[in-house]
Amino acid sequence: EYQILQVAKLSTLGEMASAIAHEINQPLAVIRMAAANARRLLSNGEEAALLAKLERIDEQVERAKRIIDQVRRYGRKPSLRSERFVLPRAIDLAISFVAEQYRMADIRLVLDIDLPDGLIVEGEQTLFEQVIVNLLLNARDAYESEDVANERRMVTIQAVTDGIKIHITLTDSAGGIRKDIMNNLFEPFTTTKPDDKGTGLGLSLSRNIVRKMNGEIGVENIEDGARFVIVLPVPATASIERSVA
Ligand code: ADP
Repeated sequence: EYQILQVAKLSTLGEMASAIAHEINQPLAVIRMAAANARRLLSNGEEAALLAKLERIDEQVERAKRIIDQVRRYGRKPSLRSERFVLPRAIDLAISFVAEQYRMADIRLVLDIDLPDGLIVEGEQTLFEQVIVNLLLNARDAYESEDVANERRMVTIQAVTDGIKIHITLTDSAGGIRKDIMNNLFEPFTTTKPDDKGTGLGLSLSRNIVRKMNGEIGVENIEDGARFVIVLPVPATASIERSVA
């Protein structure tokens, strides 16, 4: 099962390769421009302006490094042991992972995350991130396949807790789940996508991951889209970490 999970993650990474390349190209373009300017400033002896350009290069190297770190973390094999991780941070990382895909598909991502900053849950962080990434990419695919007008493309992520349970909701308006697959949605190999795109494993893996965290995932069709809800327990002790490592 872990091997299938790893394959699923790597296939998501593969799918995202062009978006990642595009994202890394942006800081590179800025660096090239700043370096050209720095050369000119150096020959004119404009030291202060030169320093500013060098700082800009540093910032952009940092930006490219962040993107690369994200990819490496995501591609890492999940550890078999359950650990504890900071939930809002995992949600943030998953979101930043698909941000470029969303920009390219012109989908607005609205965040309504009302959780304590250091809220801890039990599970494997990269697997949980994979669940959020799956749901977000499925919503993107639904918008693309339904050819929804750009101004209606929006996905909302809401998260709240009452101290005992955490509710995370992802809502889109991309037409909803096809009725004939609704009952088997979380079973392996349920897919409406063409062979080269869908495996039908995403949601069944997601359900396994969430259940291993003693949580549950469900879905309902709403007026013009789908709403996925993940419910997770708040661990009994040390649920808020003061210093986020
Ligand atoms: P895959 O993405 O490989 O098809 P999944 O298990 O992730 O596998 O999804 C199964 C099916 O559920 C998809 O093929 C699609 O028909 C449907 N689906 C999932 N998310 C959505 C969504 N947000 N809107 C509409 N349909 C969806």
